[in-house]
Amino acid sequence: MTHDLSPQLPPLFNSVQGIWDVNSPIKFHYHNSMHSPIEVTAGIQAIMDNLAVIKLFAPRLNFEYQGLTSTAPALIPNGQFEIGFTREELFRSRWGLSWGYAYVWWASHIYDSMQSYRPAPFLNILETQGVSEANHAFRAINLHEWGHSLGVNHLNSGQHSIMANNPYNSWKFQGILRWTDMLQYWRTYGYSGEMKGYVLLDEDLTMYIPSMEWANAEYWIEMSYDGTVNGSHQFSVKDLGVIPEHYAVQITSCASIGPKSSRLVITEAFWKGSRYTLTLEAINTAATTWKVVNAELIP
Ligand SMILES: [Zn+2]
Repeated sequence: MTHDLSPQLPPLFNSVQGIWDVNSPIKFHYHNSMHSPIEVTAGIQAIMDNLAVIKLFAPRLNFEYQGLTSTAPALIPNGQFEIGFTREELFRSRWGLSWGYAYVWWASHIYDSMQSYRPAPFLNILETQGVSEANHAFRAINLHEWGHSLGVNHLNSGQHSIMANNPYNSWKFQGILRWTDMLQYWRTYGYSGEMKGYVLLDEDLTMYIPSMEWANAEYWIEMSYDGTVNGSHQFSVKDLGVIPEHYAVQITSCASIGPKSSRLVITEAFWKGSRYTLTLEAINTAATTWKVVNAELIP
């Protein structure tokens, strides 16, 4: 276990002003391309799911979806924001071999952005692994490109970020917002609102708790899934770190762990598009291993 007290954050494209204006709505379209290997409603759903997660961590941003457009992402006029697939040969001639590309313009702040996707890799997954894997790949790459569209560059040290690309594991790794990303969005756009024991559960049930009170400090915590014992799901603390005080402002957590408590109630856990309330009990005195004693779907 490592205790990273000064987490490295992904750099901004423009460290001074390259962020969206939080005072005006950010209007965007989805490009309904005939070359898109992703079904239109699935593509829109993936974008909206990612946007909902991002808005939890950057709640001051106000995105407004404007519907479908027939204008290719590379050809959008200034002042707009667009997400879509670009013709294969156009994408390759402009941006080479990558899966997705986000392009951001800024003057005093970001005023124009687009996300362009290359159809071929998604078509390949569609043919070899099926539609749900292709949609999953798009969702993950889209989340990474959302990061770029918000003004964030790659993070080339460690892998605790959707913006990690070196070492780059796979699109599966980019599909979940991690604590580094949360800190970055709070640093960039500020935080207003209330976060109560909110967690993100990865596909493999890795649990990310962005803010938790423990011994008079705010921590982020990553817990790995250890399987079931006597029918109860067990997790152990894999990594944790202090959230710097200047990021922790206005964030409240209803949960506490460690010496203070052997019971952990997470009021809102987000997994595969649904929300759950989880109750965990510590099963060792150091409170590094926990079991889920109750899980309720939030309707
Ligand atoms: Zn990237």
